[in-house]
Amino acid sequence: MSSDAASRSTLKEAVATCLSNDSLHLIVLPTEACNFRCTYCYEDFRAARMRPGTVRGIKTLLARRAPGLRRLTISWFGGEPLLALDLIEDVMTRVRELTRSNPEMCVASDATTNGYLLTRPVAERLIDLGVTRYQISFDPPRERHDRLRVRKAGGATFDRIWRNLLALRASTRDFRITIRIHVDRKNAAFIDPFLDDCAAAFGSDTRFEIFIRTLARLGGANDPDLDVLDSTDERPVLEQLRAGARSRGLHTLQLPPPGSPCYAARANSYVVRADGRLNKCTVSLEHPNNQVGRILADGTVDVDSAKMGLWIRGLTTGIPAELECPMKGCADPPARPRRTSVLTALSAPLDHVEGGVRGAPKTGESRSPSASVESDFR
Ligand code: SF4
Repeated sequence: MSSDAASRSTLKEAVATCLSNDSLHLIVLPTEACNFRCTYCYEDFRAARMRPGTVRGIKTLLARRAPGLRRLTISWFGGEPLLALDLIEDVMTRVRELTRSNPEMCVASDATTNGYLLTRPVAERLIDLGVTRYQISFDPPRERHDRLRVRKAGGATFDRIWRNLLALRASTRDFRITIRIHVDRKNAAFIDPFLDDCAAAFGSDTRFEIFIRTLARLGGANDPDLDVLDSTDERPVLEQLRAGARSRGLHTLQLPPPGSPCYAARANSYVVRADGRLNKCTVSLEHPNNQVGRILADGTVDVDSAKMGLWIRGLTTGIPAELECPMKGCADPPARPRRTSVLTALSAPLDHVEGGVRGAPKTGESRSPSASVESDFR
């Protein structure tokens, strides 16, 4: 088979999976509150803890769908999902019961967390309930991380998150932690020492992997001040830093081939908001096109098929850009005028990158749910 024919057939398979009734991916926001106030965050934290009727609706929906499902993925997202740990445990306990009565259903569950509350006892409880994959973001070096990823009440966060990771390393449980490293023009030259620390701490442990990602403007109030890499710098910087991680013996996240459908492009994937709204994408949460329906307490879902059509258009057109990121052209984050001048943006950091390299989602973090991070989008 020619490589063109092979990629057409892979795309056909990917599209079939995105349309299949035997798969379901729910990205659940058990709370939209957060204990951090990252300077680049695009969320507004208005919807707090998930309402009991929405939790009931999720559990009822899952019970109804379970007999026909081969694959169920539940991604915990927020806000900071661990602020609603009891809700995660409640739903995952129900999922475990459903798995017992529906042995053909294969379940995967992950969480995108800032890591502050992910102590070893908490993680082990969740792992035992099936939440086995975690994505945790860093904005190295440490002093910068503590400036950018700051607690809501004020105060540093790096040391505690790092301690949590070291404690988890001592656990015998099976899990996967993706250490997500954000890069922009200001810190690209200072990532290497952090990679050294990661290698010393986790290099020999295959349960930890590195994902290096550029910071992006995703609609947050501070977007104009983000010193993001431009499109021509992005690729070489990422390639060099990723190669640097591999050369230190670190495991790096494998990205899917170009054109792979994002979770938002799939017909069987929904974001469940804390107030019961259904979105398609975890960015641009308040864009009208990104609010495609609602889950009701009886487990039924009310979906606007016209809006859904915008998100899953790539499944019929086959246009790679519409599969990779259907948000573009459909629910783009609001553009905010840049406050930094071009001259300022072109200054120092890139000049000081070692080894000739020039050069971190809810981020400017595009925080993609960790199970879907392979799509390389938030
Ligand atoms: S980026 Fe994540 S951890 Fe930071 S304030 Fe936003 S929701 Fe919280």
